[in-house]
Amino acid sequence: MSDQAKQTIWIFGDQLNPDISSLQGQTPGDCRILMVESLQKLKSRNWHAQRQHVVVSAMMHFAEELREKGFEVDYQLATSFKKGLERHCQNNAVTEVSAMEPSSWKFRKFLEKNGIRIIPNNQFICSYSEFAEWSKSRKQLRLEDFYRWQRKRLTVLMSDGDPAGGRWNFDSDNREPPPKDGRSWPSPAKFPLDPTDELILSRLSDGWGKYPEGIWPVTRAQALVRLREFIDTGLPQFGTYEDAMLASEWKLSHSCLSSSLNLGLLHPSEVLAAAEKAYNEGAAPLNSVEGFIRQILGWREYIWGLYWLWMPDYAESNFFSADQDVPPVFLGTAETSMSCVSSAMNHLREYGYAHHIVRLMIFGNLALTAGINPQAMTKWMTASFVDSSEWVMVPNVVGMALYADGGSMSTKPYASGGAYINRMSDSCRTCSFNPKKRIGEDACPFTTLYWDFLDRNRDQLSSNHRLAIQFGNLDRLNDIDQIRERAIDVRERLAIGNL
Ligand SMILES: Cc1cc2nc3c(=O)[nH]c(=O)nc-3n(C[C@H](O)[C@H](O)[C@H](O)COP(=O)(O)OP(=O)(O)OC[C@H]3O[C@@H](n4cnc5c(N)ncnc54)[C@H](O)[C@@H]3O)c2cc1C
Ligand code: SF4
Repeated sequence: MSDQAKQTIWIFGDQLNPDISSLQGQTPGDCRILMVESLQKLKSRNWHAQRQHVVVSAMMHFAEELREKGFEVDYQLATSFKKGLERHCQNNAVTEVSAMEPSSWKFRKFLEKNGIRIIPNNQFICSYSEFAEWSKSRKQLRLEDFYRWQRKRLTVLMSDGDPAGGRWNFDSDNREPPPKDGRSWPSPAKFPLDPTDELILSRLSDGWGKYPEGIWPVTRAQALVRLREFIDTGLPQFGTYEDAMLASEWKLSHSCLSSSLNLGLLHPSEVLAAAEKAYNEGAAPLNSVEGFIRQILGWREYIWGLYWLWMPDYAESNFFSADQDVPPVFLGTAETSMSCVSSAMNHLREYGYAHHIVRLMIFGNLALTAGINPQAMTKWMTASFVDSSEWVMVPNVVGMALYADGGSMSTKPYASGGAYINRMSDSCRTCSFNPKKRIGEDACPFTTLYWDFLDRNRDQLSSNHRLAIQFGNLDRLNDIDQIRERAIDVRERLAIGNL
């Protein structure tokens, strides 16, 4: 019990940076810090072991760093956030509790209800109110428009008012299939686990997935190492192969920075600055730097803005009334003969990670075309990926991957058959299914389900002019009855873990 009356600053598990707005101008004598590890949250899902570890370890390390700076930190292990807050207020003389605005809609409501003073969040470059302002005059909120607006207003990768290199978009250079030369890919440093990590691991629930081995940064210092190594070794070839997938390689040249950004260990503006500097110094080509800056300044900020604009109803969207459970193969309780899914699951089990195209075109695509319920899918992905957070999962899963918002975010569903996966990965070569076949025992499940998806959802999709070619092709198929039959079989086998 400390009886000196002071204000409390509550810091959440994704605000782990000394520059957060709630800490600005604060000195150790002015305030007390509260951090709460909620057992209810830890027990709410079947978390991937590395996901549980990275969050709790980063929180505990940040608490230690604040103590080293002289702050009094009350780190509560509590059954719930509410209980942690109550116990803190009972044990200390608290004049006021304030917090930087959290990243989830529900948690913001919880803070409001409990009288916490909320300070605007400074972890994004574009605040959600600026995004809402930008969105006002537009019928459609397209990423490309938002991204160009961000580049112009912040003068990022610009040259005399024009985009550097004279083009906004290098996507056409950045969609190469995986190289066949057996090259090696950057290999990220592993950060040795310390006694704090060992303590955490001894008390976390079992979860699933491989035990942590130090791949994911848990301190700002480690995150800065990850950023430097990406800029030096990954960024130069990031663009060309950003959509490619390889069974033997889990991340290719992707940055693996998402967990550090989402925990607050890094600020997006410092990541952007490092990438732009590499371009200005001639250390990385424009297609790679533009492709990467598009992710950070475009996609990440756009997703944040959309989340706050459309919540809370958005999370419950289910345009196709999809009602299937998450299949056993995703839960890790069944094996599969689909090579692409099998290798995506291997990477997920090993690292709690899959890169963007694997998330979208393997996990998302299968869930979309098989009719997996969007909320169940969001729940599963949230528990399974090291970088998950509601603000980023909901728009990416419900909007982008499953088109459950009926097209508010994407102009058409990201549905594809085996042909796309065959072009962009090396999985089909070792698969017992044939990506070109849509019927028969060896027909690729993705190919069958793709045509069946268009057929089943014709009423909702056929007026979309961006799908005119696909529906034209569907109408020319003379085996649609067999496709329907095979699709029923595929969906049943997927549901019982026998595909
Ligand atoms: C179905 C689905 C679920 C996803 N779930 C998450 C999630 O829970 N957490 C998460 O951070 N990202 C999520 N993403 C977005 C993206 O796939 C990951 O950010 C990325 O794969 C992380 O790996 P990386 O750091 O190596 O990224 P890189 O490919 O190196 O990209 C750099 C950074 O750009 C940002 N970024 C790129 N695309 C997006 C996007 N669509 N939304 C938000 N940020 C983006 C991330 O911060 C990422 O670290 C999801 C995408 C899909 C399709
Ligand atoms: S054939 Fe189909 S299931 Fe097999 S790896 Fe290719 S896309 Fe995946």
